[in-house]
Amino acid sequence: MDEFIKILDPALDYVEHIAREQKCIITVESNRKIVTCPYCGTASSRVHSVYKREFQDLPIQDHQVVILIKNRKMFCENPECSHQTFSERFDFITYKARKTERLIKKILNLSSRVSSVAASTMLKNDTAAISKSTICRLLKKNASDCG
Ligand SMILES: [Zn+2]
Repeated sequence: MDEFIKILDPALDYVEHIAREQKCIITVESNRKIVTCPYCGTASSRVHSVYKREFQDLPIQDHQVVILIKNRKMFCENPECSHQTFSERFDFITYKARKTERLIKKILNLSSRVSSVAASTMLKNDTAAISKSTICRLLKKNASDCG
């Protein structure tokens, strides 16, 4: 499982997982010693707090995957910075998104070939819980027509 997590981001460590019915919930945490402030670029290693963040990722063997990350909030060490604290960010998911970039890519890929209703039904079976309206929103954001 750790190997699978490392493909998503080598900065992540596998903690534990629970598999039930069609869902697999994987808990992960960051292994970065130093986190860069997104506002001023200063490196920080001082943790302010940890909160849980949940998002969907690509399925494993037809099981929907939900990743639970112990997301760290760091202190910015730069007194000139506009922010005293900041959340650790990752390249595989945009800030505050609920789905990884690679999952969004897969959804868009499928939705470009079938209607959003059909895509939603197909994805629900083995990939991710996603509604037709969410698919439309993703398609609009990526400038395609929504059927
Ligand atoms: Zn800063």
